[in-house]
Amino acid sequence: MNIPLSRPSIGELEIEHVTRVLRSNQLSLGPTLAAFEESFAAYIGTKHAIAASSGTAALHMCVRAMGLGCGAEVLTSSFSFVASVNCLLYEGVTPRLIDIDPDSFNIDPEQLRIFLREKCVRNASGEVIDRENGLVVKAILPVHVFGLPAEMDAIDRLAAEYGLAILEDSCEAIGATYNGRSVGTFGEAAVFAFYPNKQMTTGEGGMIVTDNAKIAEQCRSLRNQGRDVDGRWLKHVTLGYNYRLSDIQCALGCAQLARIDELLAGRTRVANRYVELLKGLDLVRLPHVDSRSTRSWFVFYVQFMGESSTSELRDEVREHLANAGIASQTYFPAIHKQPYFIEITGGAQCDLPVTEWASNTCLAIPFFPSLSEAEIRDVVNTLGEAVQDRAPAVLSLKTS
Ligand SMILES: *Cc1c(COP(=O)(O)O)cnc(C)c1O
Repeated sequence: MNIPLSRPSIGELEIEHVTRVLRSNQLSLGPTLAAFEESFAAYIGTKHAIAASSGTAALHMCVRAMGLGCGAEVLTSSFSFVASVNCLLYEGVTPRLIDIDPDSFNIDPEQLRIFLREKCVRNASGEVIDRENGLVVKAILPVHVFGLPAEMDAIDRLAAEYGLAILEDSCEAIGATYNGRSVGTFGEAAVFAFYPNKQMTTGEGGMIVTDNAKIAEQCRSLRNQGRDVDGRWLKHVTLGYNYRLSDIQCALGCAQLARIDELLAGRTRVANRYVELLKGLDLVRLPHVDSRSTRSWFVFYVQFMGESSTSELRDEVREHLANAGIASQTYFPAIHKQPYFIEITGGAQCDLPVTEWASNTCLAIPFFPSLSEAEIRDVVNTLGEAVQDRAPAVLSLKTS
């Protein structure tokens, strides 16, 4: 067997769109960029969309455009892809890692509330100060992990109460909704990403969405070397970057966005099949369902509930899958356990038991729209065998 973890869905429509741009002689800052941004903003329901060279670049620009910098602290979670913390570190912003909810794996609003109420004070001008380091808490950066929206009602309420901004990392959640509302519309700004393992791809790429005209304008300038939006080619008004997305990539994005419903439906089909087949398998916990949300399936993960919260069982299953030619990935290794993060923070203590438990026990298995019924069964059966080795008496793997 050889079943990869993910595979993009590229067809004739994508090839047509990309070829048209290649023949047009306008490979960057052309009409396809504008078209992609316009249709993306319409899809999410925001006034502005600004394409970028990656989700990381998009997050970085949002941090700058939202005025976050040295002396500021942002509340986010450690159970995420490193980009959501790195975008803060790039600008000298201190990430304050809050533990996650044990069901959703998203930032836990109750832990947020406890932190704000018990670990912070207000100064004379009403700013929220982290008592431990004296930094000004300025924003919350929730990540919609694995495509399940964070608890935005509670997060919104806390943000309003404490005067904090919200930057949504929606990179894993295109098309997801919370209380009927699309992710990407809750904060001052939000970011989506288009790496090939994401629900839609541009090869590499990202997108900022916002209703705030000032943030939009600043991000357009930042991505284009700090040029004035309608300024001359060699007039740079701010320290910017080359974070542009080429029209070739935007063409791919336009085609994928035109197919987004089909792409998401394909993922939902595979996820539902996995759930049907894995349901009832002992020691395995399936992805959380939240009645307020529709998940946009990014990865399909299973959590292994062994006797302890160590990674032993998960790692055994992973090895068993690998021996059978089935790819899997330990999503997510906690950011606060990464060598670079420990070095930067001087090994500061992080008390994040739920994050560590989730990161020791979750495994992403092959997941993409074109995964066949036979492949799904191979994955399920192989995973079942591995678990059965551990719990032979309690296995009740369904076969239909
Ligand atoms: C994919 C992803 C990003 C952005 O990644 P890029 O590779 O830079 O596009 C950011 N945050 C999360 C949570 C992601 O999954």
